Amino acid sequence: MSKLKFGFYWAASCGGCEVAVIDIHEAVLEVIEVADIVFWPVAMDIKYKDVEAMEDGYIDVCLFNGAIRNDEQEHLAKLLRKKSKYLVAFGSCAHTGGIPGLGNLANKKEIFDRAYLSSPSTPNESKVVPVPELEVPEGKLTIPHFYNTVATLDDIVDVDYYIPGCPPPPSLVVGAVRAIASGNLPPKGAILAPELAVCDECDREKTDKRVNEIKRVIYDTPDTEKCLLEQGFLCMGPATRGACEAKCIDANMPCTGCGGVLPGALEQGSAMVSALSTVMGLDNEKDPDFDFEAMLAKLKDPVGTFYKYSLPSSIIHRRIMK
Ligand code: SF4
Repeated sequence: MSKLKFGFYWAASCGGCEVAVIDIHEAVLEVIEVADIVFWPVAMDIKYKDVEAMEDGYIDVCLFNGAIRNDEQEHLAKLLRKKSKYLVAFGSCAHTGGIPGLGNLANKKEIFDRAYLSSPSTPNESKVVPVPELEVPEGKLTIPHFYNTVATLDDIVDVDYYIPGCPPPPSLVVGAVRAIASGNLPPKGAILAPELAVCDECDREKTDKRVNEIKRVIYDTPDTEKCLLEQGFLCMGPATRGACEAKCIDANMPCTGCGGVLPGALEQGSAMVSALSTVMGLDNEKDPDFDFEAMLAKLKDPVGTFYKYSLPSSIIHRRIMK
């Protein structure tokens, strides 16, 4: 039987998804048995022209990680869509925008000003900022055009499947490879992860206690047995798809939401606000002097909390640009 042809690509992301591919340990032997890797720029010497020369549909499965931040990534998304039978949005950035998606709180000028001009850690006395094209004695230099807005992979091209997580846990990667190898795939558009919340995988003690204060792990150390949310730490577990085995909770850190939206929810941030509204501030009714607004004022960076990985795919999508 001929082997499947796999491709991997890294767009706007941190590189963690590339590591996740090899984080499957001995299961990598299973992958090697069923698949050859024909495109993986981070690990093999291959040029874009080699991909352009492939027949359409030549790659059986392309795992594409990263959001779309510039025109090079958009070009590769379109090219790999054409060259792949199945295109999989691999990891939070390709799936919902990820951490790079928080760039949608600013525009290109603001980001460049901060990164190259006003950042205290960037010496740049001549105030040089990158430009897409530059004439030098040796010829014209070009770099990708940086966009104002970060897009998810399915904003740009048709996507067949999604594997969530930042990065996707090894169990999901192995499960996806087995499903692909056996041809036992769910309908197009499916998220290749179980339909459960992080809270379903978390074994902390839950008492349906109401939250009447907001705490942050940089100031307070959570109890290791009790539900973090019930202690006042904003844990995204109720609004986040699981399959991560609640690993962050095991490390005594609140879930930050990388698994993305739960099945049936419109989007993750509003789902979390809705979950919070059912657990916050009962003392407000018990105690007429309870200062609900003072409690909410302790919630720093609401967009970065509720949409840490999903701003581009949310209803908000980005800050309005003037
Ligand atoms: Fe566990 Fe967080 Fe859910 Fe509480 S809110 S049960 S700590 S995942």
